[in-house]
Amino acid sequence: MKVPMVDMLAGWPAIKDEVETAVKTVFNKANFILGEEVAKFEKDFAAMIGTKYAAGVANGTDALRLALLASGIKPGDEVITTPFTFIATTETISQVGAVPVFADIEPSTYNLDAKSVEKRITKKTKAIVPVHLYGHPADMDGLMALAKKYDLKVIEDCAQAFTGKYNLGGKSWKYLGNIGDCGTFSFFPAKNLGAFGDGGMITTNDDKIYGEIKALRNHGSKERYLHEMEGFNSRLDTVQAAILSVKLKHVERWTEMRTKVAQKYSAALGGICTPPEVRPNCRHSFNYYTIRFDSKVKRDAAQKYLTEQGIANQIYYPVSLHLQKAYAHLNCKKGDLPVCEAVQDTVFSLPMYPELSDEQIKIVTDAVRKAV
Ligand SMILES: *Cc1c(COP(=O)(O)O)cnc(C)c1O
Repeated sequence: MKVPMVDMLAGWPAIKDEVETAVKTVFNKANFILGEEVAKFEKDFAAMIGTKYAAGVANGTDALRLALLASGIKPGDEVITTPFTFIATTETISQVGAVPVFADIEPSTYNLDAKSVEKRITKKTKAIVPVHLYGHPADMDGLMALAKKYDLKVIEDCAQAFTGKYNLGGKSWKYLGNIGDCGTFSFFPAKNLGAFGDGGMITTNDDKIYGEIKALRNHGSKERYLHEMEGFNSRLDTVQAAILSVKLKHVERWTEMRTKVAQKYSAALGGICTPPEVRPNCRHSFNYYTIRFDSKVKRDAAQKYLTEQGIANQIYYPVSLHLQKAYAHLNCKKGDLPVCEAVQDTVFSLPMYPELSDEQIKIVTDAVRKAV
């Protein structure tokens, strides 16, 4: 039996009527650009994350770009981040004129290693961009301590981690996106909260950053045809906001379903690979379910066998950014980030979505067992 990586239609019948009504309402009002549905969705989103503000933008990549600009990142600044992420995290750093500086990752969560970050801090360093990879929080205690010590901005890339939480200082559970100066989110269809197209969001508690983002997303204008600066056309669509408002009410339940799938996977795979770690001070959003083998040979065998069986699978990410041609000018070489390089050769992501059935889980785990 074929098993897809994600099944976008599995959850559709349950929300179809409500989504269609919401879309029709927008059509009938024809308020397509920054309509009241956008403001309502932003308000609901901020209320859930617990931040003072949320600002809708065109996609998760623009969310990063605008968050960097609004946080005052300027040409020549250095921004420390992980090489084990999607390139959107770093292309936006370069595109605002700053320089991405890669630090190594932790071997168990695959997220930025605060000790490696500290070694790379220079006089030019202005910000850290942690990515909560696959949905597991980065070490926010360690990274926020560095930010405080060296006066750096922190922009959390929460694209894969909506509904993820972190127990800051062991004292207060916070949603990811409410710890750094900004949180950036993507509503790409395959994320935990997916639009019917593109969409993104920035969360912040900072009045000044929020004001800048609102201007930047709309051609640098707060009042029509008055421009304090140049900006972008990067607004969240009203139709998408209306759809996302409906889906927002279900997203916690979907994460619980993802967590159950993950627990079943891990119970079945425990002996033959390393299942994803969930630290006691963390809630994983399980956008991806990623296992690790003790050798590349085993990982590649699993990939070959599952693909032959019609079971979708993916390697996030096969080549770390510091070794990509796009970053050749940074002069990184193999061996610079040894943990990251070992991880890229041994990780393997399995199908993951809320409605994945016990039968499908068994097919996948049996195949992984057989392959290795
Ligand atoms: C998906 C993703 C993005 C980009 O989001 P888009 O909405 O596709 O622009 C950025 N960072 C990470 C880690 C992602 O997974």
